[in-house]
Amino acid sequence: MDRADRYRRQTVLPEIGEAGQRRFAAAHAVVIGLGALGSVTADLLARAGIGRLRLVDRDVVELVNLQRQTLYTEPDVDRPKAEVAAERLRATNGDIAIEGIAKDVHSRTVEDLVRSADVIVDGTDNLETRFLLNEVAVARSVPFVYGGAIATQGMVMSIHPPRTACFRCLTPKTPPPGTLPTCDTAGIFNALSSQVGSLQAGEVLRLLLGEPPSGDLLVVDGWIPEIQRIRVARRPDCPTCVRGEREYLGAKRSQVLASICGSDTISIDPVHRGPVDLDALGTRLGRLGAARRAGSVLLVDVEGHRVTVFADGRALIRGVADEAEARTIYAKYVGV
Ligand SMILES: [Zn+2]
Repeated sequence: MDRADRYRRQTVLPEIGEAGQRRFAAAHAVVIGLGALGSVTADLLARAGIGRLRLVDRDVVELVNLQRQTLYTEPDVDRPKAEVAAERLRATNGDIAIEGIAKDVHSRTVEDLVRSADVIVDGTDNLETRFLLNEVAVARSVPFVYGGAIATQGMVMSIHPPRTACFRCLTPKTPPPGTLPTCDTAGIFNALSSQVGSLQAGEVLRLLLGEPPSGDLLVVDGWIPEIQRIRVARRPDCPTCVRGEREYLGAKRSQVLASICGSDTISIDPVHRGPVDLDALGTRLGRLGAARRAGSVLLVDVEGHRVTVFADGRALIRGVADEAEARTIYAKYVGV
């Protein structure tokens, strides 16, 4: 096959053309979160020939993800999503540069992760990370393509102030923790999450060609199905895109904890910690319980908890009731 032929079915589109394909090849997209939406978006962007793709996710693949997260298969369970997704997409398109980064996105990591991005894609599952991405996107004047999906309902919006409202204009107040439904409690219809991911990919491709953001919120009913457009106005007192406050970006935390989408898993990301020798740690912990490697991570089963340790010192701790218990397990088995 002539490799120049690879994009023929889209360069023939008058909306894209050869010039559009060159813009794709020169573009850098950062996808934050590789669940259902991020799987679909990253896959379509790789196939469309986006020249640089950075794929970021803090989590490992679980069997429950396979119902809708189309980049993963059964042998991938327990491996970091970012690593598996990068492998899969490198096999899909060897002509582009793909990075998989298994990191938590928070105020101390986000600037590095989105550096040089032409567009930031929201594949996250929580409001706090969306507010953070919204702030960093507004601060850098980079478009941010928001997407969300729960049960049979989804939303998509391209955000690029001052031409559009921002995510904070759309959601001015943070609801108290525990009041929002999560994919664990409300479920998710897999055809809907794929629709939302596809809409996001379409927005990204259009934005990279220099098309204006639609400025509308797309509200998707994946069951009926139906898509509505809702005009979202900028709020004249928006703390993020009008007043320039950096509430989430400026948050200083010495040790970062984040619970993962309604589950009993907590991610611990110690700030002052270097690389961990996972083989040595595996040998040490092997005496206490089952410890084994899964790709680039070490899995340890202790005291009824599954601890997934990453080479940079971060850990996912499953089966804990609260942050205090997660910190205790981390200190005891990984060390601080
Ligand atoms: Zn705003």
